[in-house]
Amino acid sequence: MSQPLWSKLVALVNLDKELSELNDQIKVASEIIKANEGQIKTLENNLLKSQNVIDQQKKSIKLVERKLEEIDAVESKKKKTLEFIKNSKEYEAFEKELGLISIERQDQEDILIKELQDLENSEKKLDVEKKLLENESEKKTTEINGIKEKIETLLKSTQEIESKKNDQASDIPNEWLTTYEKMRSRVSDPIVPLINSSCSHCYYHVLAQDLIKIKNGKLLHCKSCFRLLYYKATDDSATTPSGIH
Ligand SMILES: [Zn+2]
Repeated sequence: MSQPLWSKLVALVNLDKELSELNDQIKVASEIIKANEGQIKTLENNLLKSQNVIDQQKKSIKLVERKLEEIDAVESKKKKTLEFIKNSKEYEAFEKELGLISIERQDQEDILIKELQDLENSEKKLDVEKKLLENESEKKTTEINGIKEKIETLLKSTQEIESKKNDQASDIPNEWLTTYEKMRSRVSDPIVPLINSSCSHCYYHVLAQDLIKIKNGKLLHCKSCFRLLYYKATDDSATTPSGIH
């Protein structure tokens, strides 16, 4: 004897449930991959920012070094005027100008020392970030590859279930399939068993004449929640202890 219609539809529900669980797992796994890739991207961006900072610092250091060269040039030019000094007043002015040049040099040297220190710190930071990126990216790539393999397996299972579902569906009349798919898009359990003569989803009590039809294998909609109702002999005997009516 071939399977009753309700049992084919129940099998379809179970396959659809398996499919939706697999899809959930695939979704979660894909999100983990995305999060890991995002973390690597953040580390790469940090590295780029640090590299930019270093480039700017190097440029600024070059400017200060050029200023110092200019100061040296001005000073040596000034010193050459010494032999043309005629009196102490001119000498005083000469000394004063050299003093000012020396102060300016000191200022620029202080700036240079600070900027070189900053550059050294930035380069240390860059090294730390490079190592971090290297380690993390190795770790995360391994993790991502593992998850990708898992997704592959899940996709294979999905295909197997899809094919089982197609086999199962080919055995169900089209009008029932259409009804099923329509209901399935709204609820995850479009067909439920009768328990104690009631819909096991919403507990709506089925009329006596409908109960007979359902027990004879006919599929009827619950008048309250509209799910399809089926009767399975063992369900009633298992859930209705003898002596209780
Ligand atoms: Zn119901």
